[in-house]
Amino acid sequence: MASSLFISDLHLSEERPGANETFFSFIEEKASKADSLYILGDFFEYWAGDDDLAEPFHSVIAGFLRGLSESGVELYVMHGNRDFLVGRRFCAETGAVLLEDPTVMQLGGTPTLLMHGDTLCTGDVDYQAWRQVARSADWQREFMSRSLEARREISRGLRRESIAAIANKPMEIMDVADSAVRDAFRRHGVSRLIHGHTHRPGRHQLDVDGRRCERWVLPDWYGRGGYLEISRGAPRLVRF
Ligand code: MN
Repeated sequence: MASSLFISDLHLSEERPGANETFFSFIEEKASKADSLYILGDFFEYWAGDDDLAEPFHSVIAGFLRGLSESGVELYVMHGNRDFLVGRRFCAETGAVLLEDPTVMQLGGTPTLLMHGDTLCTGDVDYQAWRQVARSADWQREFMSRSLEARREISRGLRRESIAAIANKPMEIMDVADSAVRDAFRRHGVSRLIHGHTHRPGRHQLDVDGRRCERWVLPDWYGRGGYLEISRGAPRLVRF
C-alpha cells in the first residue's frame, strides 16, 4: 500500500549538525521505504541560488536526495520563504519535481491541498508585502545578477532582519488566518490541507460550508523535528 511522507521547515544549514544527522537517518531509515517524499518548503535555512550546489555541504545534502530518487522514491519539492530560489538545476541534480504553491495532489484517492503555509498568514502584512517583492521577476533578476558570495551575504542579512522582526510581532499574526484557510479549502474544493511554515504542528478540524475539513501542520526541525505520514489513506504526525 502506498505511503507518502511530508516534511518542511528543516532549515538545513552547516551550523546545525543535529538536524543534518536527523535528516540523513530519516532518508536512510524512513524515506527510502516510502513511495514518495514531499518537501513542503524551507528545506534549507536559505538558498542563494542553484550555483550554491557546488558548496560541499549542499552537495552532500543533494546527494542524499538523489540517492533517494534514484532508488525509485518519488521526490517533490515546494518553495518556502527561505528557499524560493531552488530551481531547475537543483531539481535536475536531485531528481526532484518542483511543485507550485499551492498544488492539489491525489493521495490515496483523497484530493489534498499542499502549501508551504506562508500565504495563509495574511495577518502579517509586512511579510506579505516583502513576499510579493521577493517573488517578483525583477527582484530575482537583480539578486541573481550578483556574485554568489554577495547573494549569500544578503540572504544571511535577510535572515537576521527576519529574526528581529519576528521577535516584535504578536504570536497571532505569525499563525495562519482562519479566513485564509477557509478560502483555500473553498477555492480548491478539497477537504484536506497539509502545510508547514508556522512551526505549530498539529491537526485542526473545521467545517467549511458544511464540509468537514482537516488541516495538518508539519513540525519544524529546530527542535525534535518530525514528519507526516499518509499510509493506507490515513495521515498521522510522527515526532522524532
Ligand atoms: Mn517558512
